[in-house]
Amino acid sequence: MSEAILTLQNVEAAYGAVKAIRGVSLSVPKGSIVTVLGANGAGKTTILKTISGILDPQKGSISFKGEPIERKDPADIVRRGLSHAPEGREVFPLLSVRHNLMMGAFTRSDRDEVARDMELVEGYFPILKDRADQEAGLLSGGQQQMLSIARALMARPDLLLLDEPSLGLSPKLTQEIFAIVKRVNRERGVTILLVEQNAALALATADYGYILEIGRIVMEDRASVLAEKDDVKEFYLGQKDAGVRGQRRWKKKKMWR
Ligand code: ATP
Repeated sequence: MSEAILTLQNVEAAYGAVKAIRGVSLSVPKGSIVTVLGANGAGKTTILKTISGILDPQKGSISFKGEPIERKDPADIVRRGLSHAPEGREVFPLLSVRHNLMMGAFTRSDRDEVARDMELVEGYFPILKDRADQEAGLLSGGQQQMLSIARALMARPDLLLLDEPSLGLSPKLTQEIFAIVKRVNRERGVTILLVEQNAALALATADYGYILEIGRIVMEDRASVLAEKDDVKEFYLGQKDAGVRGQRRWKKKKMWR
């Protein structure tokens, strides 16, 4: 496996008294797609917010390209090559699609290269070129999701954090977006850390996966191996006949908490 572009060690983060992640350690190899799976409220979004500097960790260390980034300013983290497409398509609704894309490049001064990247992302998402002058708030949910990812790409990141790109989208649109994510990874060499509730799709897309439960990593493996585990099939892929072995192991684990 290639060297890690991102490493988290024993990271803890909270919202006031609510502990959201409790000692998370994970590693993202350069050039890979890594996914973090987990149920609602498991702490997936919190992991991404802590990495991108929106939330400061209470404990632990986060290293990006070999340098510590915990407690750094989010804009500084973007400048280092890490960008975040947040959950819930947080586009600027009153700005045009093109302006939204430009906002993604706010840390850059290399105008020619920014123009080149604009062409590139509009190539990945042609609908954004067609709608360039429209207010972003008028786009459909799926188009706003595309805009959110495209805007994050305008920072020309080495590592892209993607939070629930499938949320609220039709299966067809979700497939389309995941296919583009895979192309961006393979063609542009962008490393991707993907947080998802759609476990089947995430495991089919990723190289490696972590499973998060109530703020803790409870399992990790190559995505193809995780997809075959009884526990994962039963609880994350919704396969009821995944075998009693998986159920028994999981029940035992739940009793430990
Ligand atoms: P989802 O898929 O629903 O977004 P998640 O796995 O991303 O879930 P988080 O959003 O990271 O989970 O939430 C982890 C925990 O932190 C949950 O218990 C949640 O209620 C709590 N939490 C998240 N955001 C806040 C907040 N702003 N203030 C207080 N508690 C929060």
